Amino acid sequence: MPQNSKHPAGQPTLVFADAKGSITDFPALLMAGMSAGQFQLPQREDFIPLPEGSELFVLPGRLPVGYDPDSGEPLLLEDDPYRPGEPIQAVAAFMSPAHTAVLNSAYQTQEKAPHLPLFAYTAVGWYDDRFWTTAFRSDFDIRQDTSQFNQTVINDRTKKKLKQYRNNRLVQHLGKCCLTYACPAARNYFLGRWEAPLPTSPVCNARCVGCISLQSSGKCSATQDRIRFVPTPTEIAEIAIAHLEHAERAIVSFGQGCEGEPLLQADTIEKAIAMIRKKTDQGTINLNSNASLPQAVKRLSAAGLDSLRVSINSAQTHYHSGYYRPQNFSLADVLESIQVMKESGGFVSLNYFILPGVTDSAEEYAALRHLLQTYQPDRIQLRNLNMDPEWYLRSIKFSTETPAMGMRQWLEKIKEEFPELQLGYYNPAIR
Ligand code: SF4
Repeated sequence: MPQNSKHPAGQPTLVFADAKGSITDFPALLMAGMSAGQFQLPQREDFIPLPEGSELFVLPGRLPVGYDPDSGEPLLLEDDPYRPGEPIQAVAAFMSPAHTAVLNSAYQTQEKAPHLPLFAYTAVGWYDDRFWTTAFRSDFDIRQDTSQFNQTVINDRTKKKLKQYRNNRLVQHLGKCCLTYACPAARNYFLGRWEAPLPTSPVCNARCVGCISLQSSGKCSATQDRIRFVPTPTEIAEIAIAHLEHAERAIVSFGQGCEGEPLLQADTIEKAIAMIRKKTDQGTINLNSNASLPQAVKRLSAAGLDSLRVSINSAQTHYHSGYYRPQNFSLADVLESIQVMKESGGFVSLNYFILPGVTDSAEEYAALRHLLQTYQPDRIQLRNLNMDPEWYLRSIKFSTETPAMGMRQWLEKIKEEFPELQLGYYNPAIR
């Protein structure tokens, strides 16, 4: 387990929220976790202090579940133990970036409960005057750490760049991402460092159940608006060249949360990469993608694309299509894109959506092992699935009876079987 995690000396206890949303601990019950619908009593090694910059969410229509320290059985807390009869709700942690969940929040969903919004819901409890969560730090890069962002400096730098690039629609779009959505990548662009975003596509060839930029389900709202225009190669190159030439550990990344699928704009991106590489060989040009179009990947790699990040929820076709609801592509095309990028000497990361109980299930591990052995991606980014877990499990028809090894055991097994494989959370600078 990473050296910086500190475990509690005792077992954290349950926290709940009262009707007003105030969060209180209840020492009579131990904190529980959930793994694909199964309640679990977390082990001491599962815990880390709640990371700085994390948020606590109150879960509407969900009652907290804890463990009885005497019987060792899971118990439902139905009302406020301090004000009998008063309604209560379960609580979850939405952890700050670079932390991966070991167990999800434990609760029982009540009838007519609304879908939870598009965030990750990690288990949280209380011990020794602080909150603890079940997770591990999966990347020590500080690029999105809360401590790295000063809002006054951000406002100042953003205003200056918006003025400097007043005719560049993409810079103006990123200005909204930075100032309205506090997107860490957009913030780093305006601060002139690390990884900058280059969204390009208003359209997508998938209909992900948990899409954060377009939610036609009406079950919950998208977390950010999708870009409405395709920037020109000149607008893209103007941003990228300046960033790659001046930023520390510079990366520019196509494929952001505020757009559809960038491979559908391959013509524009190919021209932009050619313009960029004509001016500078500095930094890394990366593409975050659903990797649906291997021939487009081939063209972009030939134009100078350095790395490809392939987003997948599962290495199993039925779970992949259950989530992505792909339009005219399948997991086979995604795997071919990895092969194409590797054959052209490019760097490939998997952006692997982690959900305890699914990721560490025996069947998913076997499928992932096969993918890693056959296609040899260089890195796995351990990203928490940002979606209502129960809605997700129903959408992919996952059986909650499926046994799972535990996320910490999963991590050790991957490290043991694939010692060369990088494990992290962010896109690495490879130039
Ligand atoms: S691939 Fe991305 S943009 Fe397309 S539907 Fe899925 S999450 Fe949304």
